[in-house]
Amino acid sequence: MDVPLLNTEQLLLPALQNVCGPSVLQEVIEQELNPVGSIEHILADEVVRRVEQSRQFEAALTIYRDQASQALLRIKSRDDQQDRSQLAMLATNIMASPRHEALFRQGLAASRAMFGAIGEFRKHRIANEPAANWIQSDPRFATEQHCLAHLARRHRNGTVFCRRCQTVTPGTYIAARAAWQCNKCGRQSGLRSGTCMNRSPLPLTAWFNVIRIILLHPTISTSDLAVAVRVSRQQTVNSMVHRIRDAVDSDQASLRLAGLDKLYLGVD
Ligand SMILES: [Zn+2]
Repeated sequence: MDVPLLNTEQLLLPALQNVCGPSVLQEVIEQELNPVGSIEHILADEVVRRVEQSRQFEAALTIYRDQASQALLRIKSRDDQQDRSQLAMLATNIMASPRHEALFRQGLAASRAMFGAIGEFRKHRIANEPAANWIQSDPRFATEQHCLAHLARRHRNGTVFCRRCQTVTPGTYIAARAAWQCNKCGRQSGLRSGTCMNRSPLPLTAWFNVIRIILLHPTISTSDLAVAVRVSRQQTVNSMVHRIRDAVDSDQASLRLAGLDKLYLGVD
């Protein structure tokens, strides 16, 4: 019977040449990561190299697997038991060969290294780009007093959601109590009332900062955010993000975000 020769190198070479060239890959990845500065370029190059590597291993593995599955397919068309067991043996030998195993291991290592390089890239960007305005805190809200003043200003000029009336009502700001009073029912509420910051022990500066980052970078991951705002407890950040995204999605977004959406996004 015609058991095919395993001329691996001859088969592999065209496959390796077939993957799209490194220059195209480089372009795609640079577009995606947009590296700035020498370290980011080095890390982006490393990502390109590792992607290229893992694609080559993947291409090589595909050839082995095709050979094995072809052998298995041909078993069906054979009546002779000896032919069938030889083909089965061939398929097994291909899949269990040390070369296949090595390619698999190397491919895995290359893709891990690729994700590692992407992780390094992001970490570096967050840690070393204080000039990027989304990491620096907004100087308008640098202190707790600044933030309080913003909350008070909103109350002074207008309407807020009253929990007792269950509607947006005109109100008066009572400076002495740092509270807002509903003109309809007289209920007083704290400045955080009605916002996503209500009943949170965290300082307003932290809230304002996280709200701003989420508004400007809605897809940021919570782990990147924790690094950016230097909060060590991931759970704290997660719960803030949860509240803020809830507020963003609600039909009273502006109220619950204390008007910061108007400030940063210019929405009405
Ligand atoms: Zn009221």
